[in-house]
Amino acid sequence: MANTYDVIIIGGGPAGYVAAIRCAQLGLTTACIEKWINFKGEPALGGTCLNVGCIPSKTLLESSEQYHRAKDVLPAHGIQVGPITLDLNQMMARKEQIVLQLTSGISTLFKANKITWLKGHGKLLAERQVEFTSLEGTVDILDADNVIIATGSVPIEIGSAPTDNESIVDSTGALDFRQVPNKLGVIGAGVIGLELGSVWRRLGAEVIMLEAVEDFLAPVDYQVAREALRQFRKQGLDIHLGARVIGTERVQNQVVVRYQDKEGDHETTVDKLLVAVGRRPNTDNVAAQEADLLFDERGYIHVNEVCETNLPGVYAIGDVVRGPMLAHKGSEEGVMVAERIAGMGVQIDYDTIPWVIYTAPEIAWVGKTEQALKAEGIPFKTGTFPFSANGRAKAIEGAVGMVKLLAHGETDTILGCHILGPYASELIQEVVLAMEFSASSEDLARTVHGHPTLSEAMHEAALAVHGRAIHKINA
Ligand code: FAD
Ligand code: NAD
Repeated sequence: MANTYDVIIIGGGPAGYVAAIRCAQLGLTTACIEKWINFKGEPALGGTCLNVGCIPSKTLLESSEQYHRAKDVLPAHGIQVGPITLDLNQMMARKEQIVLQLTSGISTLFKANKITWLKGHGKLLAERQVEFTSLEGTVDILDADNVIIATGSVPIEIGSAPTDNESIVDSTGALDFRQVPNKLGVIGAGVIGLELGSVWRRLGAEVIMLEAVEDFLAPVDYQVAREALRQFRKQGLDIHLGARVIGTERVQNQVVVRYQDKEGDHETTVDKLLVAVGRRPNTDNVAAQEADLLFDERGYIHVNEVCETNLPGVYAIGDVVRGPMLAHKGSEEGVMVAERIAGMGVQIDYDTIPWVIYTAPEIAWVGKTEQALKAEGIPFKTGTFPFSANGRAKAIEGAVGMVKLLAHGETDTILGCHILGPYASELIQEVVLAMEFSASSEDLARTVHGHPTLSEAMHEAALAVHGRAIHKINA
């Protein structure tokens, strides 16, 4: 092991490992310190995203959706199958296999790019020195010209429902139930609550969700959020808004949850309780006092718009800094910082980061919501188009939801797009690209879209901005 590097990265999640690969591509000698131990008890790269986040959750969302479709949707296609049974062990084994394939793929990429993976804990000291404590407990002091901190985030805990990794769990626990709970309680109807609540609902659990605020999915465009709430309730997610959990109690193998809403005090008994009330930056033991690293008032490492901390040559990226806690945001920051270290003058457009919630229908958006435009006094025009009038959506038995496009009232520049519908995660990329090129809604309206595709709904929404959608009656 060398003791001096051009770049040392602390954390090997999607922010850190992408930064490491890009640094190595640019000819910088690079080490990445990562301490993760996976479910097999082995060191692993990939962080939260690959091990217990994006990948396992999307794997189970897909499996559970297939199960639901086999049971409830295939008959509509005229396909009759015998009794459908669930093999949860196989479903979990598939998830584990995919996680292992992807995480070991990152270590192969590290080897190919000659990146040194230091297995253990990293801590920033003064003067860009890093203390490395190996998994075996040996301690080394390393020197670097540049240090990138990418230590990610961890679930927020709440006093009224402390997790015990058995009955009261965080997202990691809820990705690994070995039996479908008869009744699942979820605290927080945010992204994780809705995705994992959907998984277990589709697999047969009764799901009650307790959300503290009155607004459902407050960051989402209100029209999309309202329709999404209707759809999710129709699927059987019992979502309670304005519900505050005041206490929990383990009674044998169950959990009694006490909560309050405007109607008064309530109690419900669940087999498992998922706490999904947000995540906080992971800054525990990341920097020594004498390093003088600056944190902001919410506990994130303080950085400017190009991820520079208050210390020269020290950067921070991903969930541990401001901005959305999304894998792709962290990865792009990793690329940007690597390239800036190599002398390139690149930046990220934070206004065009897409969001996706992988429910069915999916929710995806980019840019401003209608409520934000109103609050900011920006003039805008709206075009909407329902998937119920889209041929491809009908063909795939997914004709619910809509596309909503927002364009500037004077210049017609696209300001945002909000989708509730099938493959919204893929469709949104068209508008991300359009916004990256400062396109107008007229540009989208004049772009030829294949037929029959779901993307025709995007085209029609752009036409609707100008009151000339073809397959709906324009207001
Ligand atoms: P992390 O992925 O958290 O990685 C940080 C790494 O640093 C970890 O491996 C940790 O072990 C290591 N580390 C921490 N401290 C040290 C130290 N001192 N020394 C050495 N190593 C250290 N985002 C999406 O964009 N799409 C999704 O679909 C999505 N789904 C999600 C589902 C779930 C259930 C969860 C929990 C999250 C999901 N996210 C999703 C969020 C996404 O996982 C995070 O935004 C992303 O992982 C952040 O990347 P990161 O590299 O900043 O941090
Ligand atoms: P979240 O912020 O999306 O949702 C948390 C919800 O819990 C909010 O609606 C909040 O009002 C509510 N809440 C907070 N305190 C509460 C309390 N005491 N009682 C009841 N409700 C309470 O957070 P999350 O769902 O935990 O996810 C964390 C982050 O992980 C997300 O914000 C996102 O950045 C990332 N993530 C992304 C994806 C994706 O991209 N598809 C998937 C999962 C997670």
